Amino acid sequence: MSRRPPARRTRIIATLGPATDPPEVLEGVLAAGVDVVRLNFSHGERGQHAARAARVRSIAHRLGREVGVLADLSGPKIRVERFAEGAVVLRAGDPFTLDCRADAPPGDATRVGVSYLGLPGDVAPGDVLLLDDGLIALEVEAVVGPEIRTRVRSGGRLSDRKGLNRLGGGLSLGALTDKDRADIRVAAEIGADFIAVSFCRSAADIEETRALADAAGSRAALVAKIERSEAIVNLAEIIAAADAVMVARGDLGVEIGDAELPGLQKRIIREALEHSKIAITATQMLQSMVDSPIPTRAEVLDVANAVIDGTDAVMLSQETAAGNHPRAAVEAMARICLGAERQFHMDTDFEAAPRNLERVDQAIAMATMFLAEHITVRAIIALTESGSTARWLSRFRSQVPIYALSRHDDARRRMALMRDVFPIAFDSRGLPPAQAARVAIQHLFDLGLLAAGDRVMMTSGDQMQHQGSTNTLRLLQVGEGGVAEGLGQL
Ligand code: PGA
Ligand code: MN
Repeated sequence: MSRRPPARRTRIIATLGPATDPPEVLEGVLAAGVDVVRLNFSHGERGQHAARAARVRSIAHRLGREVGVLADLSGPKIRVERFAEGAVVLRAGDPFTLDCRADAPPGDATRVGVSYLGLPGDVAPGDVLLLDDGLIALEVEAVVGPEIRTRVRSGGRLSDRKGLNRLGGGLSLGALTDKDRADIRVAAEIGADFIAVSFCRSAADIEETRALADAAGSRAALVAKIERSEAIVNLAEIIAAADAVMVARGDLGVEIGDAELPGLQKRIIREALEHSKIAITATQMLQSMVDSPIPTRAEVLDVANAVIDGTDAVMLSQETAAGNHPRAAVEAMARICLGAERQFHMDTDFEAAPRNLERVDQAIAMATMFLAEHITVRAIIALTESGSTARWLSRFRSQVPIYALSRHDDARRRMALMRDVFPIAFDSRGLPPAQAARVAIQHLFDLGLLAAGDRVMMTSGDQMQHQGSTNTLRLLQVGEGGVAEGLGQL
């Protein structure tokens, strides 16, 4: 059997929403290559999230795909409350009051309520408050009791429940709200593979989420969304505490200023990789495709540049959740990622590799990737229980695909976010190690992923039932009919 064409290695996250709810649209979006779906807990009811996750799992099963589910907590996003007429138009130079009373009446063109009643204590005259991702800017002139009196600096249309940030960040709200705590339990019930912590400030926010998820029986990997200025100050400890980080460019650009975004994106991705963590690049990647069936050239370059920066995954938000062309957006993203991967080879960077190795599986992974740089192999095969070996292997961004063979559904879905990793169901229990290696190669040969003559490297453990037990690296060649043979010479 001959080999398949090169597969995309950068992962795609697609946010679900009304636009993906028709079954044929959801199937089309998943078939177009989504690796992880995002349930946005800022919108929708618990039953809706559960139903969407269930539909994704059943379609993925039918398509023979591993698709992870990411539950994205709302976090303490400050929002304006509702308007009597649904929306108003604010004009530059006009006064506008934020009414921070619990019983503030529905808003109009002069004032509106705010979801965070402590806001007057956090702002001072001269502060600039940004609404709707920076579309509207208000300058604070005075704080009078529960009222923040502002002047509109740049105006626009403001509708119900739009977000509010302060330029420069620093609003003192904690990371987890009561709603988030309840939503962590919902995420556990749904069996979410990932939980994203919005507006996290420090490692403590991630640790608290971990404790709540543990208590709820969830083994989800945690994604720290980097979207406020404090998270940049505490970036190292947040990366250490989380499993993945998201460059959440929407809110981050509002808090820090858009001119800082390119540098921060590169820095966050690089630091994540250096700490063997996963990096996600998010927001407005193909924004024009909410309306248009094709991306702008600038968007094409943005997605490709994130791939070149080394991101594991790129994310679609409105484009799939509420856009007019959800499937075309996923197809465009898949095409652009593949093109960037083909045209730009990242050099495996051992400089950035962790210095003090503490784990045997990590040491084996590093040795494997070093060899992958120096001898020609078709694939790296990891027989893995928890997926941790795949994570160590995939941090190096080599050109060699990593086939991660695991018997655990949840481990395979967590690996769906790792660049270069292809999770495959495989159960090697009961087989002695050398035989497990032969059967694994036969399986990949039968799937058309390997052909006779291919050289491969395989990592495995003597006790495959235990997590983190990888202690062996084999160099093998695929023989006629898929039987594994030892390599005579390099
Ligand atoms: P959001 O997060 O879509 O939940 O706001 C991403 C971002 O802020 O970029
Ligand atoms: Mn955000």
